[in-house]
Amino acid sequence: MSRFFSHKYDALTPYVPGEQPRDMARYVKLNTNESPFPPSEAAMRYARERLRSLNLYSDPTTKEVVALLSKRLGVGEDEVLLTNGSDEILNFAFMAFCDAEHPAAFPDITYGFYPVFARLNGVEYEGIPLNEDFTVNCGDYEGIHRTIFIANPNAPTGIALSVSEIERIVASNPDNVVVIDEAYVDFGGESCVPLIHRYDNLLVTQTFSKSRSMAGGRLGFGVGCARLIADLNTIKYSTNPYNVNSLTLAVAEGILRDEETVKENCRVIAENRAFTLDELKKRGFTATDSRANFVFAGTNEIPGGELCAKLKEKGVLVRHFDIPRIREYLRITVGTRAQMEALLNAIDEIRREIK
Ligand SMILES: *Cc1c(COP(=O)(O)O)cnc(C)c1O
Repeated sequence: MSRFFSHKYDALTPYVPGEQPRDMARYVKLNTNESPFPPSEAAMRYARERLRSLNLYSDPTTKEVVALLSKRLGVGEDEVLLTNGSDEILNFAFMAFCDAEHPAAFPDITYGFYPVFARLNGVEYEGIPLNEDFTVNCGDYEGIHRTIFIANPNAPTGIALSVSEIERIVASNPDNVVVIDEAYVDFGGESCVPLIHRYDNLLVTQTFSKSRSMAGGRLGFGVGCARLIADLNTIKYSTNPYNVNSLTLAVAEGILRDEETVKENCRVIAENRAFTLDELKKRGFTATDSRANFVFAGTNEIPGGELCAKLKEKGVLVRHFDIPRIREYLRITVGTRAQMEALLNAIDEIRREIK
C-alpha cells in the first residue's frame, strides 16, 4: 500500500475471483460457474453483422439490446439497465440505495462480493445467518428497514426461494430497496421480474455470464420500476457512460436472437446437474438441492480444502471457501457430461489413494 491510499479503504478486503489458468488445456475448469458452451454460430453471425466500427464510442443507451431484452422480459425499455457484468449493477445499487439511514443486509453465507461492495461504499451491513440447512429464513428479512441483497438461487448453496417468499420480503420493506440477484435463475429458479410491476422497491439483477455463455463479454442488467432505473442511470452517467462496449453489445444481440440455444444449454446443464448429484451421493457426499449451474457438496471422508487441492493436482479446478460452516463443502460448476465424468473419475482416484 502506498502512503497515499485513502484511509476510507482501511477495512476493504478485495474480492478474490476464482482462478483463470492460462494453460486451460491442462484443466477441467469447474471453479467459476461459466457456461461450458461458447456462443452459438448463429449468435456470432448476428454479432458480426451488428458490430459497428470500434473507432466510435459504444451506444451509451444500449438501445438495441435493451429493446430485445425488455420485450423478452415483458417490461418497459425504461425498466432495464445494462451494465459491465452484473457485479457493476450490484455496486451501483450499493452506491444508489445504501447509506447511514439505509444500511445493508444479506445472508452471512452468500455471494462474496456483497460485503466487499458494502465496505467499498462505506455502508454498514448485517450478515443474517442462514438456517442450519443453508436455507434463507425469510422471516428474518421482513420489515427490517435495511437495503436487502439476496441471491436467488443463493450462492454458493444453490438453494432457491419461491417468488411468494421473496414477495413477502419486498412487501414488508416498502421504504427500502430489495435487490434480488438472479445470476442463476435460468437453471431452474423462478424469476421475480414480474413483481416489478407491483413494487417500486424491487430491483432484480441478472447476467449473461452464466446461462448465456458470455462471462468474458461482461454483461449484466437490472430490472426495476422506471424511477429505480433512472437512479441507477444517474450513477452510471456519473461513473462511466460507456460501461458496456460495442463488441459485447453485438454478441449479446446475437445471443438474444438465438434464445433456443440458451434454453437447450440450460436444459443440458440441469440434466448434468442431476447426474452429478446422483453420482456424488453414491460416493457418500451430501449436497444441497441446487437450482443453479453448480452443485454444493461435501464428504466426511476428506476435508473440503484438501479435496479441492487434490482435485487441482489431478487437473480439476473447483471452488472451496475457507469460511465457517461451509469448509467441508465444494462448489463445483456443472459443465458438460464429459467434464463431470472427469470430475467423478478424479474423485474416485482420490478416494482410493486415501484409503
Ligand atoms: C457470477 C455472479 C454474479 C456476477 O456475475 P457477472 O459476471 O458480474 O455478471 C453476481 N451474483 C452472483 C450470485 C454470481 O454468482
